Amino acid sequence: MTKTADIRRLKEALWGDVRHVLLDMDGTLLDRYFDDYFWEHLVPEKYAEKHDITFGRAKEELLKKYKVHEGTLNWTDIDFWSRELDLDIPALKEQIRHLIEVHPHVEDFLCALKDADKKVVLVTNAHYKTLKIKMRKTQIGRYFDRVITSSEIGCPKEETAFWQRVERILRFDKERTVFIDDVKENLEAAGEFGIRYLVLKTMASSKETEPAGNGGGFLAVSDFKQLLPRHR
Ligand SMILES: [Mg+2]
Repeated sequence: MTKTADIRRLKEALWGDVRHVLLDMDGTLLDRYFDDYFWEHLVPEKYAEKHDITFGRAKEELLKKYKVHEGTLNWTDIDFWSRELDLDIPALKEQIRHLIEVHPHVEDFLCALKDADKKVVLVTNAHYKTLKIKMRKTQIGRYFDRVITSSEIGCPKEETAFWQRVERILRFDKERTVFIDDVKENLEAAGEFGIRYLVLKTMASSKETEPAGNGGGFLAVSDFKQLLPRHR
């Protein structure tokens, strides 16, 4: 089966039978460049100043710390990082909020979903403080029927338990649900739980070049334009 045929089938379902559309925020709807710049550049810079070490050394130390908490709720908890690194993480995020950008055609896609009367839910590992900064800057909050964060659920999207709990809240039909995310582990967990339509969003950061290879078994989409109904 060719990719074009797969996308066509997905679109038929999406604009037809599908009831719930679950969307990740960072890297999927919003440019992950903000987050990459934040953790890989701004935080190391401030950490280096604080400890009077070089930027390179700071980055090395931080990458080790990041690694320990990857895929856990700590990773997404910016209050945890404020304590761990003795830096005011929310204030630093505010400092570069001009870098928060919505990916191309996301608003067209969200508008089309609302027009088609779909239940649109933002499903994110982001901390509520980060979420607030991003919603204020982008104004996309109005498109969602509900926002679900992993801290509210008690575990991150990488875990199947997350999806069991989300299902209890939303009462979605797995067979009529689409989930789009830029992280394969999240799609795998949702797939294990049984969500039928899973889409990998590539080009998570605007600084990335077109990804090589395939979507690792998932249907991959690089621009929401590819999912818009024909009349848009
Ligand atoms: Mg993401």
